[in-house]
Amino acid sequence: MKNIYDYQYDELQQLMVDNGFKAFNGRQIYRWLYKELVDNFDDMTDLSKTCRAFLKENFVIGPLEMVKKQVSKDGTRKYLFRLNDGSLVESVLMRFDYGNSICVTTQVGCNMGCKFCASGMLKKQRNLNASEIVQEVVSVAKDLNERISHIVVMGTGEPFDNYDNLMQFLSIVNSDYGLGIGARHITISTCGVVPKILEFAKGRYQYNLAISLHAANNELRDQLMPINHAYPLEELMSALDVYEEYNNRRLTFEYILLKGVNDSKKDAEQLAKLLKNKHYYINLIPYNSVDEKDFRSVSFDEAMVFYDYLCKLGIRATIRKEHGGDIDAACGQLRAKEIKKQQKEG
Ligand code: SAH
Repeated sequence: MKNIYDYQYDELQQLMVDNGFKAFNGRQIYRWLYKELVDNFDDMTDLSKTCRAFLKENFVIGPLEMVKKQVSKDGTRKYLFRLNDGSLVESVLMRFDYGNSICVTTQVGCNMGCKFCASGMLKKQRNLNASEIVQEVVSVAKDLNERISHIVVMGTGEPFDNYDNLMQFLSIVNSDYGLGIGARHITISTCGVVPKILEFAKGRYQYNLAISLHAANNELRDQLMPINHAYPLEELMSALDVYEEYNNRRLTFEYILLKGVNDSKKDAEQLAKLLKNKHYYINLIPYNSVDEKDFRSVSFDEAMVFYDYLCKLGIRATIRKEHGGDIDAACGQLRAKEIKKQQKEG
């Protein structure tokens, strides 16, 4: 059976009309799903009995099964959800002055193989479909009982390796009739899947795009991120030129600071050269260590030295504040413990 969370607003209206109901029934259903957060068709009390029966016969609502929830001292919440086929995925909710931001997972495992990342320790088993990603947001909003205002697509998985479901998910959560999360409050992070960056660029979306850069020369980036073999920096940068041609949006570059690997003055200088003429800022990310990996983070003082030097070179940078460190919710640690458990068992 189809999941009702898979439908964009217009599609749901059309579906109702095609089945002998009214377009406005689609609007009612959207309100129940996304404003009232009900998880049962019987609760949609302003729909006719026939309409509810039709929905029950043809669709499921979900919801995702919440297996575990951890709340950090700083208010960050980490959720472990079980999907229908038993796969486990995590979502993280972070609290900021400007609102509540959720980090969503788009794939079970990941095939990108970035050397420093815990998520890729488990190879991709499958893509999440749109309804599953939507339901991460709905389930967390329901648990929180507060509005979620921001989304970062930075959980497990490479979003541009699941492009169609990602775009479907985005338009569903963006709809004013549903969760109404503004496109400018949504950030998609990619390790650099160039053909999809080009496709995304040409769509002229208002969503923010973040690029996981982590190295400013091919030799180092090849070592850290296998995607760089397929799409080296020159190709990535020219795809971003196309992005800038089509979109008047500021890019974000993510740069994890790995001690002794990419944190030298020379690295900073190469970064400055690489990003010359781009409309961007760099988000410096303290590395969250992963037991199985040999990389280490720079200290806060070392990060500041790198930051100051970038500023001197005229680079716009910020240092990302860590959230949920005490509950392993920090970036890169997602599912790491669960994977270890699975590896022990298997
Ligand atoms: N696949 C996408 C999105 C998921 S990862 C991408 O690569 O952008 C989100 C961000 O977290 C990426 O910039 C990734 O490189 C970074 N990351 C991965 N492991 C990390 C770790 N251990 N500490 C800090 N950041 C990490």
